[in-house]
Amino acid sequence: MIRFDDVHKSFGSHQVLKGVTAGIGKGEVVCLIGPSGSGKSTLLRCVNGLETYQSGRIAIDGQPVDAESSGIHDIRTRVSMVFQRFNLFPHRTALENVMEGPLYVLRQDAAEVRERAVALLTRVGLADKVNAYPGSLSGGQQQRVAIARALAMQPQAILFDEPTSALDPEMVGEVLQVMRALAEEHMTMLVVTHEIQFAREVADSVLFLDGGRIVEQGPAGEILRNPKHERTQDFLRRVT
Ligand code: ATP
Ligand code: MG
Repeated sequence: MIRFDDVHKSFGSHQVLKGVTAGIGKGEVVCLIGPSGSGKSTLLRCVNGLETYQSGRIAIDGQPVDAESSGIHDIRTRVSMVFQRFNLFPHRTALENVMEGPLYVLRQDAAEVRERAVALLTRVGLADKVNAYPGSLSGGQQQRVAIARALAMQPQAILFDEPTSALDPEMVGEVLQVMRALAEEHMTMLVVTHEIQFAREVADSVLFLDGGRIVEQGPAGEILRNPKHERTQDFLRRVT
């Protein structure tokens, strides 16, 4: 579904991704872990063309991702992204935020879009907040709106960049619960997270990125319980 082949990315002379090779199968949940500055966000942003990369290849369902080509709009409608800081439109209600993409990007029928948006907000536990503005919602509620918004595009995969890192601890669980439900429905997900417990329970596999390289990858249980590399061991000792 998503393939990385020897992806290199620099900002000026600063090499951030130094040959990343990995794959995420359809319906798989892959957690991407690693220290701050290792390139996790950059890798995610390359997938839907928010960043360009210099060499190697990223492909979605066999279609290469090239931020400068016209196909990138198509990629963005097929792969949604959920950010650490929600990025909702503050002057639009929860419902309007969820309707925005399908209505104005995909140009779908308004009545159908509305019906689906209400259903999605209900699914993330926010049936009573459809008309609320982001400012009146808690961080956990805003992030659930953001997930509903991502789903509204009916994407083939969702990328999450530390979706719970900006939340107060008591709100982390409700967001992880929504993500867990998505995983059970076999949504293809690439999740940058420091929630090791979540990774252990939900992820099919784990990628450990360090210094722009995948140092270790494999089944979640194996890597999180029995990391082979010292750098992975060190990292896990620090975050757990
Ligand atoms: P964190 O866990 O802190 O979010 P990360 O693994 O997501 O870290 P990235 O944000 O991908 O790391 O950053 C990797 C490196 O690239 C860092 O050294 C960062 O300073 C650099 N970098 C990221 N974005 C840019 C940019 N737009 N211009 C220049 N350098 C950048
Ligand atoms: Mg990051």
